[in-house]
Amino acid sequence: MIDFEIPAELAQRRDEVLAFVTEKVVPYEKDPRVTPHGPTEELRNELVALAREAGLLTFQAPQDGRPAPTHIEQAILFEAAGWSALGPIALNCAAPDEGNMFLLGKIADPGQAEQFLRPVVEGHHRSVFAMTEPGGAGSDPRQLATTAVRDGDGYVINGRKWLITGANGAQTWIIMADLEGAGATLFLCHGDTPGIVIERTMDTMDRNYVEGHCVVLFDDLRLPASALLGEEGEAFRYAQLRLAPARLTHCMRWLGGGVRAQSIALEYARTRTAFGKPIGQHQGVGFMLADNEIALQQCRLMIWWACWVLDQGQQGRHESSMTKAMVSEELFKVADRCVQVLGGMGISDETPVAGFFRDVRAFRLYDGPTEVHQFAIANRLLRD
Ligand SMILES: Cc1cc2nc3c(=O)[nH]c(=O)nc-3n(C[C@H](O)[C@H](O)[C@H](O)COP(=O)(O)OP(=O)(O)OC[C@H]3O[C@@H](n4cnc5c(N)ncnc54)[C@H](O)[C@@H]3O)c2cc1C
Repeated sequence: MIDFEIPAELAQRRDEVLAFVTEKVVPYEKDPRVTPHGPTEELRNELVALAREAGLLTFQAPQDGRPAPTHIEQAILFEAAGWSALGPIALNCAAPDEGNMFLLGKIADPGQAEQFLRPVVEGHHRSVFAMTEPGGAGSDPRQLATTAVRDGDGYVINGRKWLITGANGAQTWIIMADLEGAGATLFLCHGDTPGIVIERTMDTMDRNYVEGHCVVLFDDLRLPASALLGEEGEAFRYAQLRLAPARLTHCMRWLGGGVRAQSIALEYARTRTAFGKPIGQHQGVGFMLADNEIALQQCRLMIWWACWVLDQGQQGRHESSMTKAMVSEELFKVADRCVQVLGGMGISDETPVAGFFRDVRAFRLYDGPTEVHQFAIANRLLRD
């Protein structure tokens, strides 16, 4: 049976999340600690404390005997969290931590989970996933240039990464390197391990990831044997485990941002007048709002469908790929139309719409650029 009704208990949880974000988090949107390099660690800690107090921190993890929400339940809750770009940060369900927690929950051994995962789940530490390289791994991760060599019982890692979200101040590090004789391998270590050098924070158009995105040098980074995450040579398989759900949670959070942007554009279209009537009553504006509403609902349904596939125990690579490509492209169009409806104010930071525009522009690139998803989808179609 196909049923789109949201169960009462889930709807109540969604409303709690939304109320928390609108009442407690939105007032921080103009805080000077939201810098061009993203919210600072200090602001993040203050927001996390609010969610902890509200009993909503890391709601996507199993807690107090309650199982983790299913993917489809997450879709409802993450959309509510995304009403403000700071919402997922406060609730500890933002990237990259949320995807990293998911991955560590799947492959970390009990000792690693205690040391590296638990403090992230509890909101005390942040984490990074370091894969992309200038001129090396990117759309094609097989171009991985960072190397790991065996050294006694341990490993030595050398290479340079960039676009590494939240690197500055993060304590739990997942690093992808090409291990001699084994291939791409994941390693786990603390951010203050000698040999990790944060060269700079990049100036990027988006502003809503804690501490921005960094260029990082691994300069003879020496790690013990216990730093191996999972098995040698399995990094791409593990990265795939993380990617499908992480792609979808990005879609869910930014859908929430799209709903907010549309609500701001609607309010403006109702109240701003031009040529004798509210601008929304001019067809040119009304049609933009209608197109937004159609796109937002298409995105939502696509997300729910892909989540349903994952909830059936399937990997959902094809479905999550289609969804990520479609949602990021459509939300970008929604953002652009909202900016247009708001007139000159739309490109200013008087409203969160310009920030949403910048954020979804970046979303068309990370977790697989649209063209790379199209390439993978086409390859599967031709192969199968
Ligand atoms: C905001 C943001 C945060 C990020 N955070 C992280 C992070 O925390 N950790 C991390 O490791 N990485 C991170 N990244 C990097 C991200 O994963 C890469 O940007 C992405 O994988 C693309 O790689 P690239 O930038 O090297 O682009 P390139 O690989 O250089 O691609 C350039 C262009 O070529 C196109 N292209 C490539 N292959 C094909 C093809 N087969 N067909 C058609 N077109 C193609 C791409 O679509 C793109 O338009 C982040 C990126 C952004 C923007």
